[in-house]
Amino acid sequence: MRVTLLGTGDTTGTPTAGCDCDTCAEAHRRGIERTRFSVHVENERTGDSLLVDFSPDFRHQFLTREVPLPDAGIVTHIHFDHLDGLGNAFRLFDDLPIYAADETDPVTDESVAETVGRKYDYLDRVGVHPQPPLEPFEICGLQATLVPVEHPPLICYGLAIEDPETGAKLSLSGDTNYAVPDPSRAALRDPDLFLADGIVPASLCAKHPLGGDHHDDDGVPRTFGSKHMTREGALSLADELDASQTRIVHTAHFYPVDEAFEEPLAVDGEVYEL
Ligand SMILES: [Zn+2]
Ligand SMILES: [Zn+2]
Ligand SMILES: [Zn+2]
Repeated sequence: MRVTLLGTGDTTGTPTAGCDCDTCAEAHRRGIERTRFSVHVENERTGDSLLVDFSPDFRHQFLTREVPLPDAGIVTHIHFDHLDGLGNAFRLFDDLPIYAADETDPVTDESVAETVGRKYDYLDRVGVHPQPPLEPFEICGLQATLVPVEHPPLICYGLAIEDPETGAKLSLSGDTNYAVPDPSRAALRDPDLFLADGIVPASLCAKHPLGGDHHDDDGVPRTFGSKHMTREGALSLADELDASQTRIVHTAHFYPVDEAFEEPLAVDGEVYEL
């Protein structure tokens, strides 16, 4: 399994348009980007590839990275930065199956699959395949499982993707706070690579109107506000899942410049062979 991190930033990306903060300036200087979230997974046995989330930066990502266009996609949730790149499918694909969860979100009164279907019903070549969470399904010769996570107020899913032949396993936290339910943790356990939402360092919780949440024994918040994990929360979850390797993703330009490009924060274009 070959995993390419196409987009490792939060919803504004780094550099952020119109921003002259030190972190954005340093990203410009280094030629580094964290575009909106997307991960490309290639099954090297079959040559098929799968895209997790459709970034608004889809076109730029596929022009910049040496990856084939996907044969199928999975959408974790309906936020702009994960879904709104799907419009790029127009005229690019003969057939693009999209997999998404089938549970109804009380906030939208639709499942993720239904929202994707409704918003993109003008794209005849895109077919939506609703999936029950926590039940593995086959995609591109791999086994994927959508796992419910906590991203209030919307429902959102993390993902476990395994190669049934080689046993390689990729887990993604999805956009989530630290309160990932136990059955989801069980499904995400023991990955070769874990991609964890760590939007900012815990020190920045002081600047969020809601502060931090899910503090550890030393009082460090593992959740920033209510929707995302802190870097510390992401690493704590990685530890609990016994991840062999972890990259922090969905990071914001709010990271202080002396922390923003340190390990294990991912940048766009990283490639992993699992
Ligand atoms: Zn900035
Ligand atoms: Zn989100
Ligand atoms: Zn997001």
